[in-house]
Amino acid sequence: TNTILLASRPQGEPTEAQFKFETRELPAIKSGEVLLKTRYVSVDPYMRGRMSSAKSYVAPFEVGEPIAGGVVAEVVQSQADQLPVGSLVVGSLPWQEYSVAPAKSLQQVPADQAPISYYLGLLGMTGLTAYFGLLDICDPKEGETVVVSGAAGAVGMVVGQLAKIKGARVIGTAGTDEKVAYLKELGFDEAINYKTADVPAALAAAAPNGVDCYFDNVGGPITDAVYDLLNKHARIAICGQISMYNATEVPMGPRPESKLLKTSTKLQGFIVSDYLSRWPEGVKQLGEWYGQGKLQFEETVTDGFEQIPAAFLGLFQGDNTGKAVVKVA
Ligand code: NDP
Repeated sequence: TNTILLASRPQGEPTEAQFKFETRELPAIKSGEVLLKTRYVSVDPYMRGRMSSAKSYVAPFEVGEPIAGGVVAEVVQSQADQLPVGSLVVGSLPWQEYSVAPAKSLQQVPADQAPISYYLGLLGMTGLTAYFGLLDICDPKEGETVVVSGAAGAVGMVVGQLAKIKGARVIGTAGTDEKVAYLKELGFDEAINYKTADVPAALAAAAPNGVDCYFDNVGGPITDAVYDLLNKHARIAICGQISMYNATEVPMGPRPESKLLKTSTKLQGFIVSDYLSRWPEGVKQLGEWYGQGKLQFEETVTDGFEQIPAAFLGLFQGDNTGKAVVKVA
């Protein structure tokens, strides 16, 4: 099968040179295993962390070995009763056109409730990140002001809509005017193009009553500006820091601790897998809101296995609106 290996570890921004295409033999399936045909591959910012050797919450990819991540696949051969041929599954699988995996490492998904790629997005890892990070950590109340950075991405677009469901005033930041217009269509009260606006001034104008909740996907100067607007007992969920994933030096910024102190702000980092035991609850609730038309979802679908590296690299250029996925078959 065709596979994509990590060719070398990036210094700073990754490039196509980090990826190598190769053909590999697959082993025959054993009892309890299935042969899978990859349908959709998820490309995610956290994979940048796994390309480096630094210690983190998931092990680094190995140089010369396949890159792996969220995949939706179809069972084409089965030695496992629970997953007959034709079953659709989601799991952590290599960037390959076909792969072999134990059935018990996979989650079966229904074919008819939503587009199957949504199990990588709204009804999968990124939707759950929005769900638990916003509702568990920020816990916005009716009438409060919520800011979300990276608002037009997979996690952010769901965070903003969930905050609207909870009756909050929602402000998002994103990197193009098209994304800003899209966020307004989604029901965001205010949206700011952080590349063209004076971010501190625009945020202050958009949040005349201050900020009660901040869902941070991005870090850096946008976050610095939000910290100046915090209300008493504000809650901050640190979800991601994409503006710093390619940094080669530790970035220095204002030291915000005294602002957090004076406002009795709660700040919490989290990884979606912290909530593993509650995933079924999250998928069920997100599915219900989607089914009722209360949640919309958007994807940027790139076509073709050979385009996976480009789709991944595009995350750092803001190429995607909503979830970036690659349609393989
Ligand atoms: P997105 O769909 O949001 O894609 C990434 C987006 O980030 C781009 O479209 C781009 O949009 C924006 N971006 C890229 N570079 C920068 C920059 N230098 N400054 C500001 N924005 C930038 O990805 P996800 O929704 O999947 O992930 C969002 C964040 O959440 C990431 O930081 C990710 O690591 C994190 N995450 C954390 C999880 C957890 O468990 N804690 C789980 C899943 C994701 P724009 O055009 O607006 O610049």
